[in-house]
Amino acid sequence: MITVEQLQAAIHKRVETFNQADYPLSARALEQVELLACQNQILGEDIASPFDVPRQNISAMDGFAFAKGSSLEAGNSITIIGESQAGSPFVGTLNADQGVRIFTGAVVPLACDTVEMQENTNFADIKDTLDKSKPYSITLNKAVKLKNNIRYQGEEIAKDEAVLSRGKRLNPTDISLLANLGIAKVSVYKPLTIGLLSTGDELVAIGEPLTHQAQIYNSNTPTLKSLLKPLPITINDYGIIPDDLSATTQAVAQAMSECDVLISTAGVSVGDYDFLTTVIEQLGKINHYKVAMKPGKPFVFGELTQNLDTPVLYFGLPGNPLSAVVGALNLVIPALWQMTGALASETPKTLQLTATLLDDVKKSPGRVDFQRGILSQDESGAYQVSVFKSQQSHRIKQLSQANCLVVLAKDSGSAAAGSQVQVQPFPWLLA
Ligand code: AMP
Ligand code: MG
Repeated sequence: MITVEQLQAAIHKRVETFNQADYPLSARALEQVELLACQNQILGEDIASPFDVPRQNISAMDGFAFAKGSSLEAGNSITIIGESQAGSPFVGTLNADQGVRIFTGAVVPLACDTVEMQENTNFADIKDTLDKSKPYSITLNKAVKLKNNIRYQGEEIAKDEAVLSRGKRLNPTDISLLANLGIAKVSVYKPLTIGLLSTGDELVAIGEPLTHQAQIYNSNTPTLKSLLKPLPITINDYGIIPDDLSATTQAVAQAMSECDVLISTAGVSVGDYDFLTTVIEQLGKINHYKVAMKPGKPFVFGELTQNLDTPVLYFGLPGNPLSAVVGALNLVIPALWQMTGALASETPKTLQLTATLLDDVKKSPGRVDFQRGILSQDESGAYQVSVFKSQQSHRIKQLSQANCLVVLAKDSGSAAAGSQVQVQPFPWLLA
């Protein structure tokens, strides 16, 4: 059976080809969005600065700007003949040994080459007696370093310099940068359409009444919608499909004509009523079936191709709600981020850290085990994790109580309290 790492690598490789050849990023449709709507979207263009930053020489201090050629030794006096405020520059000419009062963010007059903070002058001693409408003299407490305290025009970003690259997943600091450059709209990739489909005769949609004992609610569709929320995608919900070959064929055929990706839950085991694998093979192909993980073994990665120019990638998650979450987190969501066109450096990573086990855990070698646990820190800040005693995969309350998955390596066996294990905090703990 393929390992989780091998399957992740295989999916990654397939998506790479998809992005290059099947549905090339360079040809993907773009849309213009307002700055505030672009968060978590993938930039579809390179952005260059429309102007120099700073746009002019700017003062980094509240103090005084001194004209070129001034003598700036300790004890020297400079005549202050005007003011430059943020938003209201000094206009006029300046000669050596003259200067202007200046404030942080104000334009340094072109005739000036140095700014000194007011604390290094006698300004505090004289300011209460000054008539600032007339020239006045200040004395330097110490020698002033030439060219000090000026943010030079274009020093940080030159006009036309690249500031953000295509494939950037836009975050609040990018929005800050774009706003600083006055950019009100950006081009992002149009969202991919992701189809969701649940299968099972026992399922009832939330909001509908349960009419007999054998029914349960379809929790996988709301769960997946919630897990996929951070992605810049559009979701098509195909609802609940009964355990029936022709209904399944019809639903998959419709979804593949309308979506870029199809995700299903359940119906991929080897039960007599599991039709999805049959349908996928009829309308496309299965690239990988089953993966050495627990829970989540009956996972399908395939593609739908019949009568399509561009294949529709297919992820078949197990029906069990816990298995569906573990499979989505480890195998589906990373692939979806990659498909969005985000640069590799921009796709959210699964944080994995080392923690000390607080309990003995049972495990048999052969599959990676994702056990539910509660991660915490001891008084010294070191990570520790307690693991739920029962790890049966139908436990849904436990999944909600857990804050992490404890990842036990494929070939490892049971582990004793005190040993070091790998832990994946759920991503929503970090957001
Ligand atoms: P299956 O993969 O069809 O064998 O289903 C495995 C288990 O998951 C069964 O107990 C199903 O009742 C349950 N299940 C399947 N689909 C869902 C769903 N959408 N929501 C909640 N439970 C489900
Ligand atoms: Mg079923």
